Amino acid sequence: GDTRQYAGSAYPGKEAGKSDEARCGAPDKPLFEGLLDADTVWSCTTCRACVEECPMMIEHVDAIVDMRRHLTLAKGETAGKGAETLNNLIATDNPNGLSPQNRAIWAVDLKLDTMANVGSTDVLLWAGDGAFDLAYQRTLRALVALLRHANVSFAILGNEELDSGDLARRLGDEATFQRLAKANVKTLNKYTFQTIVTPDPHAFHVLKNEYADFGGHYSVMHHTEFLAQCVERESLTLNTAKAQSVTYHDPCYLGRYNGGYDAPRFLLERMGMTINEMERSGFRSRCCGGGGGAPITDIQGEQRIADMRMDDARETGASIVAVACPQCAVMLEGVVMPRPAVQDVAVMLLERVIDTGQSAGGRNG
Ligand code: SF4
Repeated sequence: GDTRQYAGSAYPGKEAGKSDEARCGAPDKPLFEGLLDADTVWSCTTCRACVEECPMMIEHVDAIVDMRRHLTLAKGETAGKGAETLNNLIATDNPNGLSPQNRAIWAVDLKLDTMANVGSTDVLLWAGDGAFDLAYQRTLRALVALLRHANVSFAILGNEELDSGDLARRLGDEATFQRLAKANVKTLNKYTFQTIVTPDPHAFHVLKNEYADFGGHYSVMHHTEFLAQCVERESLTLNTAKAQSVTYHDPCYLGRYNGGYDAPRFLLERMGMTINEMERSGFRSRCCGGGGGAPITDIQGEQRIADMRMDDARETGASIVAVACPQCAVMLEGVVMPRPAVQDVAVMLLERVIDTGQSAGGRNG
């Protein structure tokens, strides 16, 4: 029979050509020689919206990442700045090739304990690669202030922390992912702690779900989940004076990947906010465009995903888009004004915490 009618389009969105091959792919040819355009595979943000919608629960993302492994590892053809980014990860353990010695610069004046110094603590604060980003450092510093307010005993890895490997894995470089995972597991297993807390949903996901294969078994919490517990237990006390209209953007790796929908919303509500939900929210949220290495492979579409997401936010009339991920923050802050302000939930929370006087003498004070 004619298999072509089932072949789909090699390049969705591209004008169909005159030949059968351009119109509906070439099912009888090798994968990337007519059946599928590599750009199609590289444009995926690994957001899992397709998986959530699929009535047959097909895991499309795994297949896409497998195809990327072929392109990256067998052919050395990672799209866009992919090769450069993977080389940076190999050379410096961070995707931007920044000095590994600068990983803890965000906390230079905060006098934080490091795991190397204390050996054992309650909370290990995993900073993630947002630590290198001046704008994102606000979130990390707000989180530190909140942990001190809540009198939590915590420490960071400092320069011992490496990139989690999430980006390498999504870009198909399984070798680099495994090297980073093994190195991080080796470091983490030297120390004693109860919970890893991180504001980075990508690091959260791999630490929680993907390090077990390498001997890393940890209790891992996203910062919104940990902070929600602090508020519930009243180790953080909030004033609700400055209520603003807010909408909340779900990070894919917290929401769809890990079911983390409630904690950030709980925090916003406890701050006295009314959340104007976007039409696409929760498990049907729209990705910011920042996942799966998409900003690095940078395949052009008709519109930038972050612009579409900001349009969703504008529709709600909210003055703030609350975010809970360094990638989402960068993507949405990249949308031109006028637009709602973009703020991490932790930054918003700190503005509303009542100083109970505990923090000054806190164990990390
Ligand atoms: S971008 Fe999201 S919805 Fe599209 S294929 Fe990738 S995971 Fe599925």
